[in-house]
Amino acid sequence: MSSTTEPTPRPDGPGASAPVSGADVLVVGAGLAGSTIARELAERGGRRVVVLEARQHVAGNAYDVVDEAGVLIHQYGPHIFHTNNQRVVEYLSRFTDWNGYSHEVLANVHGLFLPVPVNKISLRLAFGKQRGDELIAKLVGRFGDGEKVTIRQLREESDADLAEVADYVYRNVFLTYTTKQWGVGPDEVDESVTARVPVFISEDCRYFQDAHQGLPVDGYTALVQCMLEHPGIEVRLGVDARQVFEFGDGEVRVGGEPFGGTVIYTGPLDELFGNRFGSLPYRTLDFDFETLQQDRFQPSGTVNYTVSEDFTRITEFKHLTRQDAPGRTTIVREFPRDYVPDSTDEAYYPIIDPANLELHGRYAELASELPDFHAIGRLAEYRYFNMDQVVARALKLADRLLAD
Ligand SMILES: Cc1cc2nc3c(=O)[nH]c(=O)nc-3n(C[C@H](O)[C@H](O)[C@H](O)COP(=O)(O)OP(=O)(O)OC[C@H]3O[C@@H](n4cnc5c(N)ncnc54)[C@H](O)[C@@H]3O)c2cc1C
Repeated sequence: MSSTTEPTPRPDGPGASAPVSGADVLVVGAGLAGSTIARELAERGGRRVVVLEARQHVAGNAYDVVDEAGVLIHQYGPHIFHTNNQRVVEYLSRFTDWNGYSHEVLANVHGLFLPVPVNKISLRLAFGKQRGDELIAKLVGRFGDGEKVTIRQLREESDADLAEVADYVYRNVFLTYTTKQWGVGPDEVDESVTARVPVFISEDCRYFQDAHQGLPVDGYTALVQCMLEHPGIEVRLGVDARQVFEFGDGEVRVGGEPFGGTVIYTGPLDELFGNRFGSLPYRTLDFDFETLQQDRFQPSGTVNYTVSEDFTRITEFKHLTRQDAPGRTTIVREFPRDYVPDSTDEAYYPIIDPANLELHGRYAELASELPDFHAIGRLAEYRYFNMDQVVARALKLADRLLAD
């Protein structure tokens, strides 16, 4: 599988041995969670903050970089910022302007391109105008115009027309895609997963309907760099925090000495505690980046392959970033598979089920015994969070810590 950039190793950079004893706060991870907290505690709280990041770059999974062809790509998969949270928009807008991009996704169903989430336009394309309009009238009558209906809800309907819509959408949009993405069918994944892409009784073809969406004009890496640019913050890249501090007897030690400050941890809790109860399972992705010598490859930012191919989707970055790069474009195909712990795999999607949540809860309990230790973010909390949710949670945690 080709990739424009190799996966980043996790060496212990020179910063691993540098003293951190003068710091008031240690932040583990320079993703959006860690960077938001670091900025808040340094700026509002006047704290001296050291950020330890295992990778050689900031911005976590939102990291973007210019590839060899000069195209701005998202190394860990396409990221579109969208939110209804005004505080988060205002906060991030201190560090960036937005490019106004509105995400649109199409499903390639045997060569037919249907808007996703499935909406009125998709139904007319799939069933023809006359039949499509009949089915739309049924949907409007049952659920109301402008409503969103999950595939599970729709499949419970007994009316023959609604059952026909449910069956079509299930077979052509959900079944193969979900099985590729999760390794199991739509009925076996947590309901929240399929609920993210409802049937939308509307002609709105935007993938997200949030009040604010777009990408930072200069990219996420530039945004996060700007957040971390503060005299109270020192960032050390290439440093695995597990080489810097140890835990034991209810305390955090750095270089053998007790650390009296605050620790914000945004990495995985199972790794932190040596996987002593077992590893938390995830799905990971192999990315296949390809640069083509043409202006445009596909009609929308992302095309989902919902009935064919081994990969789930293709994203063409120039749609998202609105970059002007004539004669060349970079696309990425995503191949999901199970994550292998203790390998170079990236843990992307937590597999939410009662057993895994219980396992995470056991690690969270160990973490809660450590003094002034705060686990936050998609890895530490073992939850799928969008970027805005992570920033919102980090702002709230900062409020709480600064009020203490
Ligand atoms: C394929 C994909 C697409 C996505 N698309 C979107 C999207 O379109 N819109 C959206 O809003 N969200 C999207 N997300 C979610 C988004 O990536 C997360 O919300 C965001 O990355 C969470 O930020 P974080 O800081 O919690 O975690 P991360 O970004 O993962 O940052 C955690 C950081 O901690 C570091 N770290 C971990 N352990 C250690 C250690 N021991 N020592 C030092 N450093 C450590 C890691 O290297 C990492 O840089 C997507 C996620 C995936 C997987």
